[in-house]
Amino acid sequence: MMNEQHYQVIVVGGGHAGTEAALAAARSGARTLLLTHNIETLGQMSCNPAIGGIGKGHLVKEIDALGGEMGRAADRAGIQFRRLNASKGPAVRATRCQADRQIYRQAIRHRLENQPNLTLFQQAVDDLIVEGERVTGVVTQMGLRFSADSVVLTVGTFLGGRIHIGLSNYQGGRAGDPPANALAKRLRERPFRVERLKTGTPPRIDGRSIDYSQLQEQPGDDPIPAFSFMSDGREHPRQISCHITHTSERAHDIIRAGLDRSPLYSGMIEGTGPRYCPSIEDKVVRFADRTSHQIFIEPEGLETHEVYPNGISTSLPFDVQQAMVQAIPGFEKAHITRPGYAIEYDFFDPRDLRASLETRFIKGLFFAGQINGTTGYEEAAAQGLIAGLNAARLARGEAAWSPRRDEAYIGVLIDDLITRGTLEPYRMFTSRAEYRLLLREDNADLRLTETGYRMGLVDAPRYTTFNEKRESIEREQQRLHELWVRPGTENAQQLAETGGEILTSEQRIDDLLRRPQLDYATLMELEGVGPGETGAIAEQVEIQAKYHGYIERQRDEIARQQRNEHKALPDNFDYRKVRGLSSEVREKLLAAQPETLGQAARIPGVTPAAISLLLVYLKKTG
Ligand code: FAD
Repeated sequence: MMNEQHYQVIVVGGGHAGTEAALAAARSGARTLLLTHNIETLGQMSCNPAIGGIGKGHLVKEIDALGGEMGRAADRAGIQFRRLNASKGPAVRATRCQADRQIYRQAIRHRLENQPNLTLFQQAVDDLIVEGERVTGVVTQMGLRFSADSVVLTVGTFLGGRIHIGLSNYQGGRAGDPPANALAKRLRERPFRVERLKTGTPPRIDGRSIDYSQLQEQPGDDPIPAFSFMSDGREHPRQISCHITHTSERAHDIIRAGLDRSPLYSGMIEGTGPRYCPSIEDKVVRFADRTSHQIFIEPEGLETHEVYPNGISTSLPFDVQQAMVQAIPGFEKAHITRPGYAIEYDFFDPRDLRASLETRFIKGLFFAGQINGTTGYEEAAAQGLIAGLNAARLARGEAAWSPRRDEAYIGVLIDDLITRGTLEPYRMFTSRAEYRLLLREDNADLRLTETGYRMGLVDAPRYTTFNEKRESIEREQQRLHELWVRPGTENAQQLAETGGEILTSEQRIDDLLRRPQLDYATLMELEGVGPGETGAIAEQVEIQAKYHGYIERQRDEIARQQRNEHKALPDNFDYRKVRGLSSEVREKLLAAQPETLGQAARIPGVTPAAISLLLVYLKKTG
């Protein structure tokens, strides 16, 4: 056996949570070890080859603003980019890309291999070493022991993983990978609340067997959007199109006839699946009146013929999958390269975590990613970054940091998980955030990069670029504030002609920019005003001016709420001491042990009246 080696942080699992966790810990200066089953699968996308989308794109931008890798890797691997909701308000605009799986993995691995302070080692972890109430290391399958100040577990769908195709099932972490059964068994002996969830994936198809003439083409956007604030627009590879088809009534009949051999409908799967990403058999049963469902045919990469038919995730028996696929227009001769399947796995109730993502029961042990009940690469990566950072901060004796709900979707995600828990795989949506207008994709850097730099997550070149951008925005805002248009001048005449704006008194340019009918480009046409800024700076000046009123109102509301939001509640607080609380509320608070009054208020069933009672009690005893 090797001598026990000591690290400040050990991260277990090299998926999306694990890689961001290891990178964040190492970036912030901690000596870090990433232990994973297989170095070849670092950064592997278990399901669809896509990054971003509504809510998820926001997370990617925030990860990027904090120096994380997901956005940069997606920029390098993205083969079809789109800006979703481009014609809607800036709060819901979101970036999404179809990614070449192989290039994405390579980009992540390259970054990991070149990250100072980070060591990679290929081994399954079978057990945690726990002394008293503190984790002190891990034991691998070969019996190697590694000690650490903090351990981050990011083992995805692998804990007690069971793969289902029709009525047959077997143990696995995802298709082609072993499950982590030894670790699952050891964790079940600890006081965590463990539940089962399930998720699924569609069969993959050889693109050469598809008749594309029957499909609708969906090209990407031009100019090509990017995720990273550090993008120079030149890192994208060759761009290709996606395609669209639909299921048919015949395909639905085939699915219905196969339901008696579906593990979902024969009761073999007990875990709850993702509501917003249901299997095709689920859709056919739940929306019985629909005669077709849309399918996006997404390329898996530039150097492969395999495609991912997004929309027909299934765990039906293989013969049913084959017949169903061949009943879809364009797929009549389709050759399936990999069957679809569902996987059931253990997850831990995230209400047993702190906002730092440290577990409440074992000090120094952090959980991130799918094991906390979430679904999606972006949700996993976001948690990984925060858990890795806080694992490193704990190792150095520093206070934890997690963004607030009004600072980042990452804050919304973590706060939702730890205060409300989840009964089904949790995915991010913009509707989950109450301060949507503040949490835009376009300003993720302005919200987070300064803090990221202070935490050691953001390097000097990014910080310099960020500061230049921030200063340019402020300079331009100041300039527009000092420029005027007066009635009767040539500029006023031009405004009336091009923008329909009749001036009756002199106006500052920044005030004019707030008018819905005038945009930045129009104002820059005025004599003595243009040429102004371009790109992200012009966009930022425009958005901040246009939404000034709404943004200020949200800021006021946040300021009001924050007075109580951060009022700390003592550890292991005995809520029986607070007079007037109903027994239901008391039990909920005792079980959840929220860290702040704000968290307490978001626990389902805890009423505003209960919060007032707590506030009175804290003031009296405080
Ligand atoms: P993973 O990406 O699963 O990574 C876990 C890593 O830990 C792996 O590298 C594994 O090898 C390693 N590991 C596990 N156990 C050990 C151990 N004991 N020792 C060492 N290493 C270990 N998301 C969606 O948003 N939409 C979908 O439709 C969707 N469908 C999915 C379908 C399937 C079949 C699967 C498997 C996943 C699906 N997902 C989907 C989920 C998505 O893949 C995950 O949310 C995301 O990958 C989670 O990231 P993670 O880092 O938590 O875990």
